[in-house]
Amino acid sequence: MSKVKYYYDAESLSYKKIQRKKRNTVKYASVFILGSALFGFLFVFIASQYIESPKERVLKRELQNAQLQFELLNKKMKEAEIVLNNIAERDNNIYRVYFEANPIPEEQRKAGFGGINRYKEFEGFDNSKLIKESNKRLDILQKQLVVQSKSLDEIAKLAENKEKLLAAIPAIQPVSNKDLTRMASGYGVRSDPFTKVRKMHWGMDFTSPRGTPIYASGDGIVERADNLSSGYGNHIRINHGYGYVSLYAHLFKYNVRKNQRVKRGDLIGFVGSTGRSEAPHLHYEVIKDGEKINPINFYYGSLTTEEFNKMLEHASLENQSLD
Ligand SMILES: [Zn+2]
Repeated sequence: MSKVKYYYDAESLSYKKIQRKKRNTVKYASVFILGSALFGFLFVFIASQYIESPKERVLKRELQNAQLQFELLNKKMKEAEIVLNNIAERDNNIYRVYFEANPIPEEQRKAGFGGINRYKEFEGFDNSKLIKESNKRLDILQKQLVVQSKSLDEIAKLAENKEKLLAAIPAIQPVSNKDLTRMASGYGVRSDPFTKVRKMHWGMDFTSPRGTPIYASGDGIVERADNLSSGYGNHIRINHGYGYVSLYAHLFKYNVRKNQRVKRGDLIGFVGSTGRSEAPHLHYEVIKDGEKINPINFYYGSLTTEEFNKMLEHASLENQSLD
């Protein structure tokens, strides 16, 4: 109930009731309601610009989560790419070379992704770039896998009837190196331990105590076991045929003689520090058609991909060789 209001009438010297007109009441009410509504809308509108609704918060969290998952996926893809690139590299440089097949050119391995925009459907969103890039990467990966798989099929066919060749290739590490801690320096430009000058290091150094057994890395015939080559000290060269020679330097003692036939894994000598060597280690080289090549690509049989990556990483460090 609204209060009854009075006013003082000076003429009649009495209080009189204020009569509110019904029309006015309606008018005031309408103005009040309209005003409140307007104010309410304005408030909600402004608030919504600054304050998130619970639904918005959930959506935002979901979006953030999706983004994170995409990034994780990209990381995994990167790992897959690295593994595949390693396989492709070994495929081109080793497998295909063994069997005299031409290496697959890089363009062919990665071809077919220029020209038309096949990722149009992902455009126009905040995350377009992320999604587009991820899809593109996956497509390239898929294509590379197909090319690689075909190449390996071809290699498998070529490898039939080539058992002798496979046994001859210097395909294992020349010292026992289970946890890969033996490797000191890889193939590439390294600093010389004596002159400290950067120069090409043509093999791989395996740090091992004096007397550590050295094994033939493939079947072959001992071509040399002497210390008549400058710098190498006591060293062994095994001729594997098919243009392959392996070389083992700075030996402490021999376990084979010149012209002796050896099998892969045979004990041929012991680690030492003879010749131009800073500390006991095995300097190991692989030579193909007279050219010294990187031995690391040859350990394919004895290493997992993870181990190979670890070794590759270590071998690429530009450190000091032991010579
Ligand atoms: Zn060396």
